[in-house]
Amino acid sequence: LEPKEEFSHKTLAMDVMRPRRSDPPLSVVTQDGMSVEEVESLIADTSYSGFPVVVSHESQRLVGFVLRRDLIISIENARQRQEGVVSTSRIFFTEYTPPQPPSFPPPLKLRGIMDLSPFTVTDHTAMDIVVDIFRKLGLRQCLVTHNGRLLGIITKKDILKHMAQIANRDPDSILFN
Ligand code: ADP
Repeated sequence: LEPKEEFSHKTLAMDVMRPRRSDPPLSVVTQDGMSVEEVESLIADTSYSGFPVVVSHESQRLVGFVLRRDLIISIENARQRQEGVVSTSRIFFTEYTPPQPPSFPPPLKLRGIMDLSPFTVTDHTAMDIVVDIFRKLGLRQCLVTHNGRLLGIITKKDILKHMAQIANRDPDSILFN
């Protein structure tokens, strides 16, 4: 089987995206309802460069994408400077922040650090098209959806690894140099 042909005709976004079937689910943040400490644990327990923001875990509807470093900086700043933001404060990525009950600590509004239109493809998109988009738009990552539900993520490195596997060559020699 000719490797290039296999790549261009058969590989789909779903074959390259993470998580794999055996992996733990995608690490996401919800657009409202998570506490500062929950997000801090997510940051501590993972090393991903970013997290998709979804409406809810049940819906898996994509709202945006937030970079790990922006989350870290914003939470640190808020804890230091923002009046009353503590571990139990709720984080909101929504446009509208509902009034908090009097007994609640002030919320932390983080819509400003979210990429509101992260690039997405469907799980059936051919990988040669995905690669083309990465190259042309200079993407770092792309999200994968099925019927509007978030399924996975593909990073630039995932693509390089996949192509290296197929071509059995050094990933650095392909495409992105
Ligand atoms: P890189 O691919 O450059 O190392 P990351 O550290 O963000 O970038 O991702 C490491 C691996 O984890 C990649 O295979 C990627 O597809 C996957 N990944 C990235 N973000 C997430 C996430 N939020 N949840 C689950 N897996 C992720």
